[in-house]
Amino acid sequence: MAVRVAVAVAVVVKLPIDTLSLFSYTFFSMFDLTGKKALVTGGSRGIGRGIALALAKQGADVAVNYHRNAEEAQKVVAEILALGREAFSVQADVAQTADVVRMFAAVMAKWGKLDILANNAGIAPAMVPIEQMTDDQWDLVIDINLKGQFLCAREAAKVMKPGSKVINTASIASGGVGVGFGRIASYVASKGGVIGLTEDLAVDFGPRGININAVAPGIIETDMTKEIITAGSQGLLTKIPKGRFGKPADIGAAVAFLASDEAEYITGVVLYVDGGWLAA
Ligand code: NAP
Repeated sequence: MAVRVAVAVAVVVKLPIDTLSLFSYTFFSMFDLTGKKALVTGGSRGIGRGIALALAKQGADVAVNYHRNAEEAQKVVAEILALGREAFSVQADVAQTADVVRMFAAVMAKWGKLDILANNAGIAPAMVPIEQMTDDQWDLVIDINLKGQFLCAREAAKVMKPGSKVINTASIASGGVGVGFGRIASYVASKGGVIGLTEDLAVDFGPRGININAVAPGIIETDMTKEIITAGSQGLLTKIPKGRFGKPADIGAAVAFLASDEAEYITGVVLYVDGGWLAA
């Protein structure tokens, strides 16, 4: 369709063929994910839903992982099908090895390949002083947010071919950039770990033709942030030069870019998508 439009324009304005190719490439083909098969963990809600829809809008077929919310996952599947792409939901707790192995087996059974993994599933803990943080609370956050991304990356490494892309979800709350909230040490440690995981796997994956990067969202409007946005929106907004909280689609767009062929030379980096918070 895009090429047909380009040809029509070129014929009308009598452009030479080289200009036509450049025109068509520049304006119609960038970030095209047609035919790519993607798995989005935590795709049933919030940022994961935004990522799943962004990938599908660029042409990818999407497996939507969820943990407990089968109904929400099914709604995302329906939205993707309505875009004319393939989609199905797959239940798995990303913190459980057996679940993750089963989830990848389901994707491979359906499509026989995986081009894009968006490692997005995560939880935020209740904010508590360290003296009150229990071992179980600590372990749960690290297991889902960090071990979950390790387990999925490990399965992806077994099946991904050159040209594939892994995009991990970190956070501005991951250490090293001067953003501290306090009382969420397990969360910040897990996201700092995600950045370390991303960098080290980039070294391993590079020679295999697989790219791995992280997106680090600022504050995005989802179920996870409902309470802090309601409680402190004015104070938080003063930190954001763009003057608004992020939307899941803002992160989806960044992930779709990193998943595209155009991001081929980008690996091992953290893309902060924060409305300018870190710059201010
Ligand atoms: P959310 O609205 O609470 O959605 C969380 C998603 O993760 C849901 O799809 C949920 O599935 C899934 N999930 C939770 N535990 C899981 C598990 N054990 N196994 C598989 N899936 C699981 O959260 P969000 O705000 O979209 O956050 C998504 C990611 O972005 C997280 O990694 C989060 O840390 C990160 N992040 C968020 C923000 C923000 O401002 N929102 C900022 C920085 C980073 P169910 O629907 O089945 O429960």
